[in-house]
Amino acid sequence: MLIHGLQKMTLLDFPGKVACTVFFDGCNFRCPFCHNSELLGVGFPPLMDDEQLLSFLQKRQGILDGVCITGGEPLLQKELPKLLEQIKALGFLVKLDTNGSFPEILAELIRRGLVDYVAMDIKNSPQCYAKTVGKERFDLAQVEKSVDLLLKGAVDYEFRTTVVAQLHDDASFHGIGQWIKGAKRYFLQCFVPRDSVLQPGLDAPTEADMHRYAEIARIYVPETGVRGV
Ligand code: SF4
Repeated sequence: MLIHGLQKMTLLDFPGKVACTVFFDGCNFRCPFCHNSELLGVGFPPLMDDEQLLSFLQKRQGILDGVCITGGEPLLQKELPKLLEQIKALGFLVKLDTNGSFPEILAELIRRGLVDYVAMDIKNSPQCYAKTVGKERFDLAQVEKSVDLLLKGAVDYEFRTTVVAQLHDDASFHGIGQWIKGAKRYFLQCFVPRDSVLQPGLDAPTEADMHRYAEIARIYVPETGVRGV
């Protein structure tokens, strides 16, 4: 497998763990606020292959607790289960970031004990999903299946939303809250404008808006936190 990025150590990406973060390219969404736009198409030069990654991880045994797998959308990678087997065999915990498009693969990874923590994006309320993932139309069925799977609690997880001034409002968080009601935990992450985002001109919400949105979400998910403000 080709790995397109490696952050050798992070204290932020895997809650409570010292981890590294591995980036894969390719994504089926085109979220206008995406920070990893260089990873969305296939063709970005790879950094290393899986043998080189495993060699790096062998040297980090006893130093790192876990490995974060992100993208792009990592579940597009056909060989991911095999790589996760090898990472788990080295004794690392695995956190997976996903946009929720591939519930069957996610269920299989959970069933086989290949992931320990899942962070799933909830891009917006169901009514506003298409524009928030950069599509004219969007069938939410697969994402709904992934939400239902995580709500069953077979693996530790969080839902999270990157909040963008032009894409979210109070109604967004009533809609999301009703959808994921009873979730274990939910985070609102403040969008950070950067030159590399897909659609220039998007803004971060105000701090007051972030806290008001979190209050709305707590009606439905008491364990709602805010990141980035
Ligand atoms: S934000 Fe995530 S889901 Fe959206 S386009 Fe970027 S990598 Fe894909």
